[in-house]
Parts: sequence; C-alpha cells; structure tokens
Amino acid sequence: MIFDIMTLFPELVNTVLNESIIGRAQANGHIEVKCHNIRDYSEDKHRRVDDTPYGGGKGMLMMAPPIYNCYEAILAQKDQKKEKPHVIFMSPAGSLFNQKKAEELAKYDNIIILCGHYEGVDRRIIDEIVDEEISIGDYVLTGGEIPACIIVDSVSRLVEGVLSDAECHEKESISSGLLEYPQYTRPYEFHGVRVPDVLISGHHENIDKWRREQAEKLTAERRPDIIEKFRREENNEKDKKH
Ligand code: SAH
Repeated sequence: MIFDIMTLFPELVNTVLNESIIGRAQANGHIEVKCHNIRDYSEDKHRRVDDTPYGGGKGMLMMAPPIYNCYEAILAQKDQKKEKPHVIFMSPAGSLFNQKKAEELAKYDNIIILCGHYEGVDRRIIDEIVDEEISIGDYVLTGGEIPACIIVDSVSRLVEGVLSDAECHEKESISSGLLEYPQYTRPYEFHGVRVPDVLISGHHENIDKWRREQAEKLTAERRPDIIEKFRREENNEKDKKH
C-alpha cells in the first residue's frame, strides 16, 4: 500500500508516521508513505502557494497550479499500467471518517491525500483531481496534515502484516461491532482493586461470555447508536440462519 501525501508541511507528517507501529511498517515495506512538498511545485519565483480569495473575505487560499503540478509529478512516477491512485482531500466539509471507511480504503493499492492549509484550497483543483472529500470530525483544524496521518494510521493497521498477531485488530472496539470489553494486566491487585475472578479462572468459555457481556453493557451505556446497529445486524444474521 502506497500513500502519497501532498502537503506544505512534510516534516509534520513524517514526524508522526515514522514512529512506532507505522514507522516499523514502513521500514518493513508493508506500506510506503511519500510526502510531496507542494511548495516545490510553485510557479512563482518566491515559491508562493497561496493568495487572497476572489470576492473578498479573510485569510488565504491555496492556489490550484502548484497542487496540480505536484499531482502530475506524482502520477508521472507511477506505473501507467496500474490502476489510477484514489485521491482524497481532507476537509471539514467531507463525509465523516469511520472504521468502515478505513476498511474500504484499505482495498486500494495507492492513495493520494491532499492536505489543505490556511482557509482551504481553490475549488477547481478539488473538482478536477479529487475522488472524495473526508472529514475526521465536526471541528476545524489548521491543516489537513493531522487528518491525513489519522487516515494513514487507521488504514495501515488493516494492511496485512502491519500488526503482529499480538496486536490483532479483530476483537477491538468498533471493528467487532461493539466497543471493547475492559482489559487488565499485572499486578493482580492495584490500589485495592483486584482483577475480576473470571479472568483468572482459566475457563475460556466463561471468559468469552464475560467479555461479550461487558462489551455489550459498555456499548449500550456509551453508544446507543452502535448497540442498536449491532443488535439489528445480529437479528438479521439469525433470520438468515432460519
Ligand atoms: N475554510 C475551511 C476550513 C479550512 S481549515 C472551511 O470552512 O471548510 C484548513 C484545512 O485543514 C482544510 O483545508 C483541511 O484540509 C484541513 N481540515 C480542517 N479541519 C478538518 C477536519 N475536521 N477534517 C479534515 N480536514 C480538516
């Protein structure tokens, strides 16, 4: 899986993605993250990449030509026989990102992410090169770099080989359809609180049952939207079996 990130702040993205599990995944070749500095593609001798918006208003907008030149340069490096990369623009006006979308994106071989900055980017570049706009939440950030890191992180951990068996994602929050059950590790007693008996019983069936009950209880308390969807899907499965 290759991620090409178009940004004005490549250091910001690299600093985040070169560490820990995602850093290791890059070193092992399971994923590749390439940052492209849009400023290098400016047509201006002062390397300008932004200008004031037509019609007035506060702030600066990223201009279309440097972004387009950057995009063309990325495409020129690609094997033309392969499928065209999927292009995402990070935007608070995009559709909300979630685990389902991460799973969908994990199927692509190559994703290009455009990070906006300042007041955003000229609409014409979005209309011309972008396949979808994604928001990471209903709040506004100063730039698309942190959102891009979130996409790369969540999609990469679904790529085969990125997580070790010990870090397996199948039973965790959201992907399993429920929030995760409470987990405990040593010491057995901490500030007077002991680990629940069932977890040290060695009885795997009971442990699974307890975890499932805890996950449902937690999800029902915290996320009525998720539990409702989970029960609906569970009932559909049951109906199919009958
Ligand atoms: N004026 C714009 C906001 C610009 S914020 C508007 O009202 O829509 C600057 C850049 O930060 C955006 O272009 C986008 O790339 C990024 N950004 C900010 N909030 C974001 C969010 N919630 N999700 C994804 N990207 C975001």
